[in-house]
Amino acid sequence: MFGKVLIANRGEIALRVHRACQEMGIRTVAVHSTADATAMHVRFADESVCIGPPAARDSYLNMAAVISAAMVTGADAIHPGYGFLSENARFAEMVEAHGLKFIGPAPEHIRMMGDKIAAKDAMRSLGVPLVPGSMGALETLEQARDVAEAVKYPVLIKAAAGGGGRGMKVARSADELEEAWSVARTEAKAAFGDDSVYLEKYLDRPRHIELQVLADTHGNVVHFGERDCSLQRRHQKLVEEAGSPVLDAAARDALGATVTAGLSKLGYRNAGTLEFLWQDGQFAFIEMNTRLQVEHPVTEMVCGIDLVKEQIRIAAGEALGYGQKDILFYGHAIECRITAEDPESFAPNPGKVTTYHAPGGLGVRVDSALYSGYVVPPHYDSLVAKLIVHAPTRAEAIGRMRRALGEMVVAGIKTTLPLHQAVMEAPEFQDGDYTIHWLERFVSDRNTDAAG
Ligand code: ADP
Repeated sequence: MFGKVLIANRGEIALRVHRACQEMGIRTVAVHSTADATAMHVRFADESVCIGPPAARDSYLNMAAVISAAMVTGADAIHPGYGFLSENARFAEMVEAHGLKFIGPAPEHIRMMGDKIAAKDAMRSLGVPLVPGSMGALETLEQARDVAEAVKYPVLIKAAAGGGGRGMKVARSADELEEAWSVARTEAKAAFGDDSVYLEKYLDRPRHIELQVLADTHGNVVHFGERDCSLQRRHQKLVEEAGSPVLDAAARDALGATVTAGLSKLGYRNAGTLEFLWQDGQFAFIEMNTRLQVEHPVTEMVCGIDLVKEQIRIAAGEALGYGQKDILFYGHAIECRITAEDPESFAPNPGKVTTYHAPGGLGVRVDSALYSGYVVPPHYDSLVAKLIVHAPTRAEAIGRMRRALGEMVVAGIKTTLPLHQAVMEAPEFQDGDYTIHWLERFVSDRNTDAAG
């Protein structure tokens, strides 16, 4: 087992990884920008290294600085968290070239899944169901037109290098295709430096359901069931749950069997999440994330497992030591992503948190790096806390979330806490009856009511 792990991240996820290490008796090294010198992840780590100025490209994304920090502190391995360098195949290669372990998948699999066209090709060959669309990248608008006619409008033009919902444009009819095509390509070029795009049928009322997997280096692949992440705004998740209100054990088992067999054939290792759209009882693969996900805690709560510890054990070469039949699900878990944003306009609202009070009690978990007096810096993602609840049933979990949201205090900055409270009270949410488009409408109706 590793003696020391460097955590190449910040905020709640750096703290999350630190906690797993500490329980395993592994020493931790935090890295931080000058803006994060007093951050919680720095305070808790056994050692810390400043790796640069506030801008992420000069600090948390600076591969040489991160690897140097690992070398000078004598770390054995690097955990990248999510975001930043977590899905950068070159970084994973550099880490290994310096004799360190990268706590994540092999570089070739990071690269394959980072290219959504290559990922879809791989999944097609493994028998995983896909959203109908183009086979590979589209070279011309005429090709896009042909595929759109074949799969029928509405269609979606998506960036091969996409992420965070960028480089994605809907065309509802042939008239809209040219504009969607050029806007998606321009956005993709600007955001990712790569304007390759592909086309998918735009599903009008899907749910977003994803499957958590772990694979060790001894050929064992298991899944930990699904997460339903259908509550989204601008293709960004706000609330996630395990399990999905619409899926039964048979559907989960069938998908899990296809996916684990496929990943085993691929020789995949460590954690991964396969994202699907689900509509009319059918799954359609959209992408695979080769890292720990923000919403991983809901899976941990229903399976009673620490996914970060498992990632570390796998990277150290240990076998999982259990099989699919040993993984049991109990109860229901919900996570609310609380961000430092205006709950109506979603404008970022960094600044000083004058008072912070975390909720508690049975079945309540808070993953956050907040403290009273903390200044949320303007340079990074606006996520400030994840509030997770676990209860025997979905109805009880909702009741627990309402109670916990009511106890939580984040004063001094605007947060999305009031929006989460409203979502928990919405009958559609309580009934579990919604698609990926529901929340957007709910937010705009709520804003209209507030204005009227
Ligand atoms: P990104 O990597 O940018 O997050 P994804 O491919 O994961 O992009 O898609 C993000 C979200 O966009 C999905 O969760 C879903 O809400 C929506 N989406 C993606 N593909 C489709 C599609 N073919 N039809 C309808 N919605 C889609």
